[in-house]
Amino acid sequence: MTNEQRWDLIVIGTGGAAMAAGIEARDRGRTVLLVEHDVLGGTCLNVGCVPSKRLLAASGHRHAAATNPFPAAPTSAAGVDLPALIAQKQDLIDALREAKYQAVADAHDFPIRYGHARFTDENTLDVAGEQLTAPAFLVATGSTPAIPDLPGIETVPFLTSTTAMQQTELPESLVVLGAGPVGLEQSQLWSQLGVRVTIVGRFAPHNEPELAAVLKDVFTTGGITVVEQHATAVADTPGAVTVTTDGGQTITAQRLLVATGRRPNTNDLGLDAAGLRPTTADSWLSMTTSAPATSGSGPPGTSPAPRSTSTSPPRPGTSRPRTPWANRRQWTTAGCPASRSPPRSSPAPASPSSRPWTRVTAATAGPFPPTTSPARWRTTTPAAR
Ligand SMILES: Cc1cc2nc3c(=O)[nH]c(=O)nc-3n(C[C@H](O)[C@H](O)[C@H](O)COP(=O)(O)OP(=O)(O)OC[C@H]3O[C@@H](n4cnc5c(N)ncnc54)[C@H](O)[C@@H]3O)c2cc1C
Repeated sequence: MTNEQRWDLIVIGTGGAAMAAGIEARDRGRTVLLVEHDVLGGTCLNVGCVPSKRLLAASGHRHAAATNPFPAAPTSAAGVDLPALIAQKQDLIDALREAKYQAVADAHDFPIRYGHARFTDENTLDVAGEQLTAPAFLVATGSTPAIPDLPGIETVPFLTSTTAMQQTELPESLVVLGAGPVGLEQSQLWSQLGVRVTIVGRFAPHNEPELAAVLKDVFTTGGITVVEQHATAVADTPGAVTVTTDGGQTITAQRLLVATGRRPNTNDLGLDAAGLRPTTADSWLSMTTSAPATSGSGPPGTSPAPRSTSTSPPRPGTSRPRTPWANRRQWTTAGCPASRSPPRSSPAPASPSSRPWTRVTAATAGPFPPTTSPARWRTTTPAAR
């Protein structure tokens, strides 16, 4: 079945990058469709920033009560009702999904189609059996926890940040693999809820050593054990998980949480069919294309974008290429448009923009936290402005 409705732009994803693109497209008088194969809102809302900060805030309150230095003004930090806490977190997510995503999409008048999106050729996207065509596509499909190729990992029922924040039974102890931002916030969150936590890995590897040292001091003072060694194997033991390190240590805990990075969601997008090839140079997901037809043409009335398909990151000191949507990049700096309110007036100006369009653009999350901006914008046509 082919779509009868024509869209100027089809965006795959409904996370922060996709929402920003949808809003921007409408602001420029374009028609745009967003496609989502899961729930509306992407990582930040559903399994990232929002739930983690909500649970961190709750755990911080408990920790403050438990470490109250004023015995004359007693506080208590009794057992945690984890099912209630998880339900409260979910209530917030659901409310924000409605207020900050669905209402924003409605106000800007762009629809959301649900179903898995996969290119069948360079002009066509299959969404749940429907063939959608458009003069431009944006791949904003985000990322998923990357699981390390560690001996024994396939035998261990491990948690990720996603599943950890859905559990309803508080483990007695937790070993966290990876001490990047996700591993650190998960460690602190569960520790402050009363779990005995050990982190394995180089501490805050993306930060300046001075900052990492201060952070590490905060964590160890807070009762978290830090093992700055490389995990070499994991094993399932009765009621527990054991992690072995290259320094010869063995750490045993009730649960294992893997926070060793994230990988781009590009493996089931039909990129080959679209003549696209993902690359991960400089930890960015960018698109290279071998199909000239996919690199330049825009909608009627606009100049075709150049044919260049260079995707290498800009050299230090040079400016990053702007995508047609990049001037609203700040909306994605929190990884979600949660601070964005619906427009006060009609969003779509009558005349279309004369800016050139990029044929296929990838907007994805890079390493977290990124060195410049959380929303990683790459274009197949760097000269397009
Ligand atoms: C635990 C955690 C905490 C975080 N905390 C913060 C924070 O505090 N601050 C911050 O700035 N960032 C934070 N981040 C990072 C932030 O969540 C991401 O940078 C941001 O969500 C990326 O947005 P995105 O739009 O690129 O992708 P996503 O939000 O991941 O959206 C991609 C969407 O595409 C959909 N999709 C994928 N493939 C298809 C397909 N084939 N068809 C249809 N739909 C598809 C997915 O279902 C998803 O909804 C955190 C991340 C995690 C994991």
